[in-house]
Amino acid sequence: MANHLLTALANLCFPRCSMELRKDPITRSWVIVGDDVERPAQPGHCPFCPGAQNAPQVIATLNGNELGGGPISAMVHPAPLYRIEGEPHRHAEGIYDAMNTVGAHEVLVQSIRHDIELWQSSDAEISQFLLLTAQRIQDLKGDLRFKYVTMFKNHGPAASQEFDHPVSELTATTFVPRRVLYELRASRDYYLEKERCVFCDTLGQELRNPIRIVEALNHYVSMCPFASRVPYEIWIMPRKHESSFERSITSKSAHLGELAGLIRRTLQRVMSISESFYLVLHTVPNTYQKSNILQYWKTVDEDYHWHIEILPIMGTKAKPYFLKEVYYTHISSESAAEKYRKLSIR
Ligand SMILES: [Zn+2]
Ligand SMILES: [Zn+2]
Ligand SMILES: [Zn+2]
Repeated sequence: MANHLLTALANLCFPRCSMELRKDPITRSWVIVGDDVERPAQPGHCPFCPGAQNAPQVIATLNGNELGGGPISAMVHPAPLYRIEGEPHRHAEGIYDAMNTVGAHEVLVQSIRHDIELWQSSDAEISQFLLLTAQRIQDLKGDLRFKYVTMFKNHGPAASQEFDHPVSELTATTFVPRRVLYELRASRDYYLEKERCVFCDTLGQELRNPIRIVEALNHYVSMCPFASRVPYEIWIMPRKHESSFERSITSKSAHLGELAGLIRRTLQRVMSISESFYLVLHTVPNTYQKSNILQYWKTVDEDYHWHIEILPIMGTKAKPYFLKEVYYTHISSESAAEKYRKLSIR
């Protein structure tokens, strides 16, 4: 009985502590593996509303700006996938590779208001959120254990949204996630061959015949990618070549208001198509840590280009298996862009 109680208590405090990272020796992807324990629903008030007794530890706060945004905070995730303490201890198990789930997992509380989502916020509030995100990424990149830091948002029931409060999340990992690694390798290879950024080239071509462009502003563009993975997939990226989101957002030349407005309108468009989506920021990996084995750091500032990917989730039915290995989009990106453009969004 006492043992049961202890286990229950441990699960409540450290529900995911038995996790480890394992590398697939064939695809070279890192996988988080562990016997997860069902977390009982936490009764009581929202932990992210002001004054909550059960509030997680606050890591950073941005006070209100002169434009009327904020204050907003970054907090430790109540049930983190990665833990800040300790060393990764990368080790072999025969031919296999494994390491501890060392990293950071934070919740970015976008607003002190429980019922205002990003696309309902003012451009000043969205700018504040972008600044907090950039500052957290810069801060975590100062920790040389971390190779990659990113921000993402799971919204809606089909995206396994975890909290009612409007939040995004941020993770710092001791490895570069698979999808980003594909992009980094591909952009490096393209650059080696052409000495140009594949994202800049793509954008240039799309702007010349703007059938997949949704909005082209002075500094930022939203567009449906040529080979969308899901219907209505939409990306936001800077027109000028910039590898690092965090560097460009915190620089004086950032056109934050323009980007904030574009994010707000893009999410309004997405929400009129689907109630659930994934949003992920892809930015340059941690270049403080130079790797001689993994050559992609060498030209990364020239070959990689930061962007935000938004993937709406249409329907909740699981896909047949073959569509998990090959993407299939039943609405072309040209039709998606046209529909997005025709929506009356302000
Ligand atoms: Zn709340
Ligand atoms: Zn570029
Ligand atoms: Zn990407």
